[in-house]
Amino acid sequence: MNKNVRKAVIAGNWKMNKTRPEAKALLEELKPMVADIKNVEVVACVPFTNLETALAVTEGTNIKIGAENCHFEKSGAFTGEISADMLAEMGVEYVVLGHSERRQYFAETDETVNKRTIAALAAGLKPIVCVGELLWERECNITEEVIARQIKLDFFGISADDLKKCIIAYEPVWAIGTGKTATADQAEEVCAFIRATLAKLYSAEVAEAVTIQYGGSMNAANAAELVSKTNVDGGLIGGASLKAADFTTIINAAENG
Ligand code: PEP
Repeated sequence: MNKNVRKAVIAGNWKMNKTRPEAKALLEELKPMVADIKNVEVVACVPFTNLETALAVTEGTNIKIGAENCHFEKSGAFTGEISADMLAEMGVEYVVLGHSERRQYFAETDETVNKRTIAALAAGLKPIVCVGELLWERECNITEEVIARQIKLDFFGISADDLKKCIIAYEPVWAIGTGKTATADQAEEVCAFIRATLAKLYSAEVAEAVTIQYGGSMNAANAAELVSKTNVDGGLIGGASLKAADFTTIINAAENG
């Protein structure tokens, strides 16, 4: 990554894992392991039920807490949903939006991702917006078309100042939870393409300021090579964020890379 203009962000996405005691134990284990990290923003995005515990355990530390989704309306008849304001009021700083599992299993679309991103920004949250192509789309050689479309739609109507508060996670769907990682060159190619797309839509200065992560089976063994790439500014980590030692190795790779 270009450390002169951007700070790496390593964010864990716990998905639907960990009870409150388990969440507390994992974060207690992680705290001393990452206490000396200076150049990387360390984030744990946890299930809604763990937010209060996670915020309490990490208070006064360098670990930031995020949620895994939020609704786009401020309040109302949306049974089972959580608003961005509810998260912000708790002290949550980040929120994952448009994760491929949300798109695949919960019928989220670029339109709702766009609305959620706008709502999150209005509440003062930092959205981590996920984009990525299906395996079939990569095989059909339309990865760039797919990514450009998602970027245009997911950030439609969002100002340059607000875009700079967002993180974009490039997560090829075929690499999530599959053990199949994109090669560092493949990750760099698409992250650079995302930056070039942002430069066209906004400006080169804005594009340079945006943090673009890679996500998809990033682990302790492959993280260093991935984050060594110019346009890969950290990672969104699923499985490997559930083990303090593995997550710390990834964070150290970004700190020292
Ligand atoms: C994710 O959930 O965003 C993810 C990248 O998962 P994994 O690291 O397990 O592939």
